[in-house]
Amino acid sequence: MTVLGSKLHQDELNGGARSSYFNSPPLDVSVAFPQATPASKFPPHVADYYQLDDLLTPEEQAIRLKVRQCMEKEVAPVMAEYWEKAKFPFHVIPKLGEMCVAGGTIKGYGCPGLSITGSALATAEVARVDASCSTFILVHSSLAMLTIALCGSEEQKQKYLPSLAQLSNVACWALTEPDYGSDASALRTTATKVAGGWILEGQKRWIGNGTFADVLIIFARNASTNQINGFIVKKDAPGLTATKIENKIGLRIVQNADIVMNKVFVPDEDRLPGVNSFQDTAKVLAVSRVMVAWQPIGICMGIYDMCHRYLRERKQFKAPLAAFQINQQKLAQMLGNIQAMTLVGWRLCKLYEAGTMTPGQASLGKSWITLRARETAALGRELLGGNGVLGDFLVAKAFCDLEPIYTYEGTYDINSLVTAREVTGIASFKPTFLTKQSRL
Ligand SMILES: Cc1cc2nc3c(=O)[nH]c(=O)nc-3n(C[C@H](O)[C@H](O)[C@H](O)COP(=O)(O)OP(=O)(O)OC[C@H]3O[C@@H](n4cnc5c(N)ncnc54)[C@H](O)[C@@H]3O)c2cc1C
Repeated sequence: MTVLGSKLHQDELNGGARSSYFNSPPLDVSVAFPQATPASKFPPHVADYYQLDDLLTPEEQAIRLKVRQCMEKEVAPVMAEYWEKAKFPFHVIPKLGEMCVAGGTIKGYGCPGLSITGSALATAEVARVDASCSTFILVHSSLAMLTIALCGSEEQKQKYLPSLAQLSNVACWALTEPDYGSDASALRTTATKVAGGWILEGQKRWIGNGTFADVLIIFARNASTNQINGFIVKKDAPGLTATKIENKIGLRIVQNADIVMNKVFVPDEDRLPGVNSFQDTAKVLAVSRVMVAWQPIGICMGIYDMCHRYLRERKQFKAPLAAFQINQQKLAQMLGNIQAMTLVGWRLCKLYEAGTMTPGQASLGKSWITLRARETAALGRELLGGNGVLGDFLVAKAFCDLEPIYTYEGTYDINSLVTAREVTGIASFKPTFLTKQSRL
């Protein structure tokens, strides 16, 4: 009887494995463990099975290609090393600036004025090679710059946006606090009016780019009106300290900060006139949530591209891994997920462009796409075996990078609840015992 395991074991005992070893071409000992090409030489783009390009304008196709080429050339060779060290590769910022994607959909002020689809594709192409880089640009562009563009005065736009668009200055966006994450609208940082400006006091947590950003967009509660206001704060403002959060398991290149504001003075000219309540952040979050939804799409395209190459390069049982049915099924499942995620993301962009996208639709896009992305990344991680836990082969890194994306810009749960509130008309964020108490 030869069940698979015992037959193989017998072969090994009989020297079968040894004889096939001696029949193999001589090992190239100059390359340690040459199982497959690492991700520093990025794999060809093969994940776009349903030909997304057919749905794009020539300009959108062009920006997609431009970003892909830059990321593969400039970022792919260094990303594993910087991810491992949890350091930011400052030397690539000028190269990212040359892609002309910072500022995304903003028109004028030196910004690229891309369509939302073009901006989303740029986000995905950056994320395909490195999710941390895409988060760096997303926080800077789709959160901080967009807040200035949508809620700032004409003078503020002229003063800040051009240098941010070139990435000669970097911005961050600070909403979350140590005690207010999902419940961010209850934030406690205060803004108190004084002669000629405002005094900010409080703390922020998790702020991407926060350790080195030149410009910080800070949200605080107006001590007189009790409403949320927005402020532009400079890096060297007295009383402001930013400390790097260490030991992240994902997006390790992103420098997230704990920020403490101890009587930080902000002149009147740096208060954002368009942020007068928490609701005013909604128009910024509507765009950024679409962008965040495209990050996992890009990440999964990179994972698939890597798996596709790896499975054809590495052999086991004298056959490429790609020849095994179970591996083929996993590849097909990943590919199907990516096509569905892409079409949902594309449709979100079209709804936004038509001016009809609702908050629930944006939230469903973000939550559902991140859910499918987690499944896709887990399959990819399995397919690479041991190398699926090594940063060098992209997939382990991408697998880890998805975790914070599943959580930020509204966790999977919170975004699901936003959608469910819209379709049922019933909000379920607060436990019922608190809702009953508040009615008393
Ligand atoms: C890497 C990273 C980068 C980030 N970058 C930024 C940034 O640049 N700027 C910024 O302002 N913030 C940033 N954030 C913060 C991010 O938006 C928050 O982490 C997120 O909103 C979740 O908040 P929390 O971590 O406090 O989790 P919590 O709110 O404590 O939630 C913990 C768990 O409870 C669940 N939960 C909470 N409330 C409910 C509810 N009502 N119903 C059901 N489930 C619930 C959540 O879904 C989650 O699973 C970043 C976070 C990370 C990890």
